[in-house]
Amino acid sequence: MTAQPGLLQFPPLVLPPEAEALRREVRAFLLDAIPKDKASERFKSWNTFSPEFSRQLGARGWIGLTWPKQYGGGGRTQLERYVLTEELLANGAPAGAHWVADRQSGPLVLRFGTEAQKLKFLPPITRGESYFCIGMSEPDSGSDLASVRTRAEAVEGGFKINGTKLWTSGAHRCHFMIALCRTSAKSEERHAGLSQIIIDLKSPGITIRPVINLAGKHDFNEVNFVDVFVPRENLLGNEGDGWKQVTSELAYERSGPERFLTNFHVLRELVRLIGRQASPRAAETIGRLVARLWNLRQMSLSVSGLLQQGQMPVTEASVVKDLGTIFQQELPEVGRLLAQSEATTQDELDDFIDIARQATLLAPAYTIQGGTTQILRGIIARGLGLR
Ligand SMILES: Cc1cc2nc3c(=O)[nH]c(=O)nc-3n(C[C@H](O)[C@H](O)[C@H](O)COP(=O)(O)OP(=O)(O)OC[C@H]3O[C@@H](n4cnc5c(N)ncnc54)[C@H](O)[C@@H]3O)c2cc1C
Repeated sequence: MTAQPGLLQFPPLVLPPEAEALRREVRAFLLDAIPKDKASERFKSWNTFSPEFSRQLGARGWIGLTWPKQYGGGGRTQLERYVLTEELLANGAPAGAHWVADRQSGPLVLRFGTEAQKLKFLPPITRGESYFCIGMSEPDSGSDLASVRTRAEAVEGGFKINGTKLWTSGAHRCHFMIALCRTSAKSEERHAGLSQIIIDLKSPGITIRPVINLAGKHDFNEVNFVDVFVPRENLLGNEGDGWKQVTSELAYERSGPERFLTNFHVLRELVRLIGRQASPRAAETIGRLVARLWNLRQMSLSVSGLLQQGQMPVTEASVVKDLGTIFQQELPEVGRLLAQSEATTQDELDDFIDIARQATLLAPAYTIQGGTTQILRGIIARGLGLR
């Protein structure tokens, strides 16, 4: 079921007691699990790889929280997962290693995979031992995914892959990529002939080269495939259904709290820095930021509730991502200006400026990753019946 065209629906949602009980458990765990470094070093995010942390989370049953128990999952609700994600982000947990596998690769395998694929790939993910990356974008194909050119040619027993994927986050540290490939030549129907294939990144013929980001970090990559053999059993879903599957994958990617809580630590540290002796102007500015954040959180929670009911709130999820992007891009700049006029000691100010600087360098990416702002606004306009 989709939302009624022309209307946005954000029904209010109150979290059930079991979700709040889980929140208390997660908070207690994070208090011990996250090192007490100075603020600018303590806060990590879903971009930070820590296999050790992922294994600890897996041991608690907190990866694949909603997946069926026979595949190692926790059999719990989307709303409980929402709370877990919120706490990981708000506390700056280094959750990057298992993030993609937990958020979208695992759910894709659950939805479209064979029984053998579920039994092979899901349990190691839930233990925090197996990491996945997303192979959608290419040098000439980002927003327009239907134009991907990486070829998967049918050969005896499987496929031979040739082509290049670009901006692949974490490929140098992951075990598998779910790649969108062309399995048959382009036809009149632009979205036909694409398939998703699970590629073991240790296969011969794969070269992974770093692409350094604006913050000077190695996070994403260019991944080149030359005659890479992949067994047929790694085809995910039906051959030719790649477009339909990839579209559903993007829905998992767009609606979560990471779209407005990735730099929550900036707000938290700002309040810590000037909270007690805030001038009326600072108090008002912080009040506005908190009100916006709370509003976004209620909207996002509402989207999660709709997903839990089996609805596909594509327009609403896009609105949350767009508003979340604007919020997360403004926050470091507003915080920096406020801190400079309100901080009492140079040491405190220096630490906060360091946090704001790191957040500023990461902020431009929010407009692009998970679907660009322009593409999302097109989706919103269509959802509202405006185009
Ligand atoms: C931090 C980060 C991590 C990423 N990680 C991954 C990853 O792990 N795996 C992966 O596959 N990809 C990843 N990407 C790539 C990302 O998904 C693409 O960059 C994005 O989809 C845009 O594609 P593009 O770069 O080819 O830009 P283009 O699609 O060429 O877009 C260029 C500009 O044109 C605009 N535009 C394009 N088409 C339209 C249209 N129809 N209407 C209006 N405006 C339009 C866009 O909004 C944009 O401003 C990542 C990107 C970032 C920034």
